[in-house]
Amino acid sequence: MPTINKKPKRQYTNKSQEAYRKRRKIYNTKRWQRMRDAKLMEQPLCIVCQLEGKTVLASQIHHLRTFTQEDDENKMNALAYDSNNLIPLCYHHHYCIHHSWLKGATTLEEIEQYTKAHLEEEEKEKDTSKKQLNNSYIF
Ligand SMILES: [Zn+2]
Ligand SMILES: [Zn+2]
Repeated sequence: MPTINKKPKRQYTNKSQEAYRKRRKIYNTKRWQRMRDAKLMEQPLCIVCQLEGKTVLASQIHHLRTFTQEDDENKMNALAYDSNNLIPLCYHHHYCIHHSWLKGATTLEEIEQYTKAHLEEEEKEKDTSKKQLNNSYIF
């Protein structure tokens, strides 16, 4: 019998399984879908892009404070359905806030600070690559 090389099933920790279950529970409701649509109508632009001086339509709604860590159903719903806890983001910046340089920002002030620091960092990098480019012309 040839052995079929099956990829091992991805192991989820109980915690992330639980978070996944909670997200499904909220995102499948009409109440959430209405709320998300209303928020996108009210604030159609990605707030991080705006901080960067760009006008980009938001495609996703992010919870500043995550509801997936709440065990109490009432507290979870309170966070999930709190309009003040929601911000519109573009796909890229939604990725950043969960996995990259915006990670850990849970208030608008923090998002502003992180974005400012990130822009400064980018400027520095531009400067260094410019210098490197200039140097490469010196023989
Ligand atoms: Zn954006
Ligand atoms: Zn999010």
